[in-house]
Amino acid sequence: MTDRLIEPWLREIIRCPRCKGDLTDTTTESGVELQCQACRLGYPIDSGIPVLLVDLARPLG
Ligand SMILES: [Zn+2]
Repeated sequence: MTDRLIEPWLREIIRCPRCKGDLTDTTTESGVELQCQACRLGYPIDSGIPVLLVDLARPLG
């Protein structure tokens, strides 16, 4: 289940919680995350569920 993709219907509606912008699915060393290029943040995906919390987001280098 670790590589499970986000449900398409869910992927359609999710937005960056900070700027409400589009998120990009990006594969990193630790798995897939959703990145907001505007905020330079990467949101983790936990068992197929996007964790859209700014506090838990990873700053992009
Ligand atoms: Zn954003």
